[in-house]
Amino acid sequence: MAVQWILICHGLLTMLVTISFLCGQWPIFQGTPIERLHYFLTFGAYDYFLRFVGTVFGNKGTSVIECIEQFCCDRPNPILQIIYLAILGGTYYFVAKSSFSYIPGYYLSDVHIYTSVLAVGVGVLLFLLTSFSDPGTVKAENVSDFLSAYPYDNIIYKEKECSTCKIPKPARSKHCSICDRCVARFDHHCGWMNNCIGERNTRYFLAFLLWHFFLCVYGTIGLGLVLAGRLKELRVVYILTAYYGVEKSFLGLAPHIAQVDTSYGISAIVSLLLVGFFGYHAHLRLTNTTTNETFKWQDYTSLQKKMNEARTSAAAPKASMSGLSRETKPPESKSKAFWLFSNVYEVIFPLSTRPSFVQKAEVQMRCL
Ligand SMILES: [Zn+2]
Ligand SMILES: [Zn+2]
Repeated sequence: MAVQWILICHGLLTMLVTISFLCGQWPIFQGTPIERLHYFLTFGAYDYFLRFVGTVFGNKGTSVIECIEQFCCDRPNPILQIIYLAILGGTYYFVAKSSFSYIPGYYLSDVHIYTSVLAVGVGVLLFLLTSFSDPGTVKAENVSDFLSAYPYDNIIYKEKECSTCKIPKPARSKHCSICDRCVARFDHHCGWMNNCIGERNTRYFLAFLLWHFFLCVYGTIGLGLVLAGRLKELRVVYILTAYYGVEKSFLGLAPHIAQVDTSYGISAIVSLLLVGFFGYHAHLRLTNTTTNETFKWQDYTSLQKKMNEARTSAAAPKASMSGLSRETKPPESKSKAFWLFSNVYEVIFPLSTRPSFVQKAEVQMRCL
């Protein structure tokens, strides 16, 4: 019975870690151990590690770790790109070495040897496209394209100049401190891609996330069918049951089941992370916004709230309030009806690359 309990505990632990990591910050988990575990997994563990290094090696040790962190997180570098290629290549090598000799098998035809190569190849291609394509770098020679494509809303985006690049800062752009450049329709800087995600490569980034989710699902189902095929071909279940009886035979298989369970647990976590991240980004694109803008609107609405509270407590007349104190909300989501299509189309064919906007920009430049 002990083995069964270990399996149950293993499954519950995997589920707890997955839920805590992915959903621990949800309001429903506020004040629960799941929220604390989420904090530990995302921030706490690193803090404890820093404290541990500080206690053992002193301030010098902490400084070394912070320098490594700065090099890895605050400067462009290919470390995470190499790690991604190593994980993908290593996993594919391990899968090919351990399973390809069983293909064709009872459930899988030999076509899967070629489709698996194709699936991984497309994944790498999308990774390279996202990593090395231009995210929409704003330069003096193309700034007019972006200015005409994205008008200022005068709420979170006002007409101003980038203090570093010394060129006008188009609405929806941001200066990336890691890459040291302004990027149009900036979403975030992705360490895994060693590149910004902006107007012109969001399409590749979304395709990368979705494709890798399907790759995980394909790999998991494929490996499951290889295993099931072998069990069927060797009549393992029948032989074990006939010779040892149901209970003893399955107890003998338990450690292997635990191994398979662990692999599936890891695969499930990676798949959930990918699909969750894709879902989040797909929602942003459908509502025609970016990660950067989500934070900007959060800051703006929190400022508005504070100003309204101050206004209420001071009982100041409405007329004296500035434009910022008005009850302004983020623009209505464009995710309704036909706007959905328009928002998706904008991701696939960025505004600043369309001939209509380029011509408009040229006319504006001539008028200046
Ligand atoms: Zn800039
Ligand atoms: Zn960047």
